Amino acid sequence: MPELPEVETTRRGVEPYVVGRRIVALEVREPRLRWRIPDDLPEQLAGQEVRSAGRRAKYLLLELTDGTLLLHLGMSGSLRVLPVASPRVAHDHLDLVLDSGLALRLNDPRRFGSLHYTTGDPQAHPLLKKLAPEPFDARFDAEYLWRITRRRRIAIKQLIMNSHLVVGVGNIYANEALYRARIRPRRQARSLTLQEARRLVRAIRTVLELAIRVGGTTLRDYVGADGAPGYFRQRLYVYERTGKPCRNCRTPIRAATQGQRSTYYCPRCQR
Ligand SMILES: [Zn+2]
Repeated sequence: MPELPEVETTRRGVEPYVVGRRIVALEVREPRLRWRIPDDLPEQLAGQEVRSAGRRAKYLLLELTDGTLLLHLGMSGSLRVLPVASPRVAHDHLDLVLDSGLALRLNDPRRFGSLHYTTGDPQAHPLLKKLAPEPFDARFDAEYLWRITRRRRIAIKQLIMNSHLVVGVGNIYANEALYRARIRPRRQARSLTLQEARRLVRAIRTVLELAIRVGGTTLRDYVGADGAPGYFRQRLYVYERTGKPCRNCRTPIRAATQGQRSTYYCPRCQR
């Protein structure tokens, strides 16, 4: 599943090809995505210029002359920029055709992706307005994390993966951030100290930034089956390293299951 770093990598990858370009057409071959694409959307978009390419959580926001497109890649979506005449392959559901002769093409085998258009403030759109802070927001700081962990018995790993509290911390990144912050994934959230919260906020940002940076250099083949950017894998400390020596202390990495997700940790470095 594309996670926040892959979506940000996609945003950076498409930005130079779409910003400043005029939309010639929206060609929809399969309108039945997670929500049906309205029949009149192509007409609404034709002739508009793309002003900017932004992101909120896992939504790409294409700001147009009169409104904003909200694109979500769902479970299996990917975007490519290619000449409009390029042959279509299975699951190529739509093309946003630009005046450069290139098209932004969405491929999504499972069709959990979505495309919405709003003429209002995109941040006030029902899909976006209730989203928790981004990991890079000033709002997401040690005090915020510490405050939301108070009185919560839930494991700290599950808390940081809860998108109602902070968006974009997927399983890989939660595992890696907890390792870097030296915190055991199964610790009760309420046991975190303010100092640990500070380490964890920093670790979450570091891990995501690293993934974005690495993903950004390998746009064409950056998504593996589990969403881990290929080249990021070589830099993992615990994720899928069960039994292998901790890169810090040589103790074998352990695995566990939490909320049906795999957890990896070093029993010596993480407390
Ligand atoms: Zn260790």
